[in-house]
Amino acid sequence: MKAIVVSPGKPDSARLADVPEPTLADAPDGRGVLVRVVRVGLDGTDRDIHAGEYGAPPLGADYLILGHESFGVVEEVGPKVTEFGPGDFVVAMVRRPGTSPYDAVGMQDFSTDDTYFEHGISRLHGYLTERYVEVPEYLIGIPQGIQDVAVLLEPVSVAEKGINQAYEIQRRLRVWRPGRMFVLGAGPLGIIATALARLRGLEVTTFGRQSPPYLNAELVEALGARYLSTGQVSLAQAAERHGAPDLIFEATGFAPLVFEAMDVLARNGVLVLVSVTGGDRRAEVPADRLNLGFVLGNKVMVGTVNAGRVDFESGVRDMAVAQARWPGWLGRLLTHKVHGLDAYEEAFRLLVGEPGVLKAYVEIGGRA
Ligand code: BGC
Ligand code: ZN
Repeated sequence: MKAIVVSPGKPDSARLADVPEPTLADAPDGRGVLVRVVRVGLDGTDRDIHAGEYGAPPLGADYLILGHESFGVVEEVGPKVTEFGPGDFVVAMVRRPGTSPYDAVGMQDFSTDDTYFEHGISRLHGYLTERYVEVPEYLIGIPQGIQDVAVLLEPVSVAEKGINQAYEIQRRLRVWRPGRMFVLGAGPLGIIATALARLRGLEVTTFGRQSPPYLNAELVEALGARYLSTGQVSLAQAAERHGAPDLIFEATGFAPLVFEAMDVLARNGVLVLVSVTGGDRRAEVPADRLNLGFVLGNKVMVGTVNAGRVDFESGVRDMAVAQARWPGWLGRLLTHKVHGLDAYEEAFRLLVGEPGVLKAYVEIGGRA
């Protein structure tokens, strides 16, 4: 069968390859689920892997099948599978357990191992192919109301984890009534985080580089959130004008902004970092002031990567509520459809930053 593969570490190596068909027997104990891939979303991580800056092939392989934002339909199940049947729609989780104690209890998104296993990213093949086999433990069932947008569930799960973590941490305060949130970055992750925060009743200001009007700003405003361009107003000015944020979600990929965010965070607030920054940027910071603000203000900063099953599941619920509350809004995020695995060159052209591309995805086959 066909697959889009790369040679990790080598720039611009994406190509179409013929890879072995998976079979139910690939999974242990009759627990295999054979999934036909319907569509796969692309993001900055795929771009970095394509650029040769990130990613690793499976042990013993010299290529990696790309793609981690999957959506597919079950074709066949092994004799010991009760959770799914043919025709069910599913999204696969991305990370698989390594060896740390967290991995052992199903919290591989909190793995402390040096190496981690992520489909389409690190040491495990991804979903930009025709079929895969997985055990039910790593598949999320998709209800009918969100099937046409469920290819967004993986990025939604990453935003969910960040916000869920913030609320989890803030249980330290017994009573936490967050009012305001700043979302830094108006890419897919920032826009999705804006929606999740609006569903939780927060007043949200989302920052992007571009000046409005443009699609990303419109999508933010359609949620009843405020869009500000960082070219026009700094975080400090915004905090002065609209109030200091109780929660900040940093998703710009521009690490120096983290320190500005630390500075404007409200007392008792929490700053969530989600950007994977592979570069080597340096910044000079007002160290004493930032430290003092954190100490006297009881502030928290937390990094978060990937997502656990709970985050995928709250993602499914939030996507369903979002569909009902803002009909058609999630679908507007899917701006660019690439037809078939053969069109991989077009996929990467879009990823490298054509203007107006919010989320590109590859349509691989069939229904939904
Ligand atoms: C993926 C996450 C993954 C992270 C780090 C992101 O693009 O969506 O699932 O954990 O990259 O590899
Ligand atoms: Zn991703």
